[in-house]
This record gives sequence, structure tokens and C-alpha cells, in this order.
Amino acid sequence: MTLARIVQPTRTLMGRLNRGDDLLEAITKLCVEHGITVGRVEAIGAVEKAGLAYYDQKEREYQNFEVREPLEITKLSGNVSIKDGRPFVHAHVTLSDADGQAIGGHLAPGTVVFACEFVIQEFDGAEFVRGLDESTGLTLWA
Ligand code: ZN
Repeated sequence: MTLARIVQPTRTLMGRLNRGDDLLEAITKLCVEHGITVGRVEAIGAVEKAGLAYYDQKEREYQNFEVREPLEITKLSGNVSIKDGRPFVHAHVTLSDADGQAIGGHLAPGTVVFACEFVIQEFDGAEFVRGLDESTGLTLWA
């Protein structure tokens, strides 16, 4: 059955991260500090290098990979929910190089911020809690 609930926007946190921050860690920390447990995230900017992942649907595991070059964040899009009792940010990014070629994936630790402007939108209502989904092997909203 499809999971869908109406949520209403409440607070919006807007700002920028510092050079050298770990992108995923810094966004997660902001959510924890501001008590944001349901929401969505978007950001643009640039990174010094990227740590990404691809979920291998057959092997049912993430394959992590690094892109060791300066890249633009053309789009970071994600959400905030609860995993293991704390705010968890799930984000995907599309990054581009000097030729405008894009690469993307599941945002993993190890993405180093050069500059980043973010907007985190909080929603009210019941939390979305992640649990193991047997059919995919992923921790999805239960
Ligand atoms: Zn993902």
C-alpha cells in the first residue's frame, strides 16, 4: 500500500555551510540542533570532492565511490525522517565538472564542502520512521 500523508510547512532554515564541512554530516547536525524531524532539504554550491553511493538492487547493498575533483552542486534534494531514533537526512546530489558533465548519486559521508547554500523546510505532523523493507533491503518509511 502506498504511504502518503498530508504535511504542512512550518519553519524554514536557510543558510550556508562552511568550507571543509562534510556535506551530509553538516546538514544532519543542523536538523538535530534545530529539532527538525520531518522535512525536506535542498542545496546548491560546490564541493572539493564527493563521496557518493549507488544501491545495487541485485546485491542489495550500497556501492560507495569517490569523485576526487572540484565539482558544482547543481542540485541536492533530500528529506528528513527518523532512523534509529534520531533525525536522518536522505539526500541525492547531481554534481557537474568543468565541462558541464554531470554525475550523481546517493549522498554519502566524505563530500567536502567548498561552498554551499541550503534551505531546510520543516513539516509538522507525525514522523516518518525508517525500518527495514524486506522487498528492497533498504530502510524505508514504515
Ligand atoms: Zn538514496
